[in-house]
Amino acid sequence: MAGDTICANCGEDEQLQGERSGETITITCEVCGLVWDRDLTPKCPRCGRTDVHKAFQSILEKSRGTQLSIQSLRVVYLCPDCDAVQLADYVKSNSPLPPAELPVTPRD
Ligand SMILES: [Zn+2]
Ligand SMILES: [Zn+2]
Repeated sequence: MAGDTICANCGEDEQLQGERSGETITITCEVCGLVWDRDLTPKCPRCGRTDVHKAFQSILEKSRGTQLSIQSLRVVYLCPDCDAVQLADYVKSNSPLPPAELPVTPRD
C-alpha cells in the first residue's frame, strides 16, 4: 500500500491489504486483523454529523461447527446523537464493541 495508511490498532503500515468496493476501499491489517475503510470521511449515516467517535468493534466469524469465535476488529463510528447509548458504553468500558449479531441490512 502506498504511503499514508497506518493501522490504528498496531501501527503497521506495510502489511495492509486493500479491497475496493464501490467508492470505498476496505483495508485489512495482515498483522493484527483490524479492518477499516479508507478515504471515508467519518459521518453519521442517519443524521450526517461528522463529529462522530471512532470505536473498535469485534468481528464475529463462524468457525468450524457451530461455535463462534472473535477473530478480529473493525473500525466503526458512533454518533453522539444516534448512537448515544452505545457510545457511552464504549467510552465507559474502554473495550471493543460486541459484534453486531444480525447482518446489516437496513430497511426503511
Ligand atoms: Zn494492525
Ligand atoms: Zn447521527
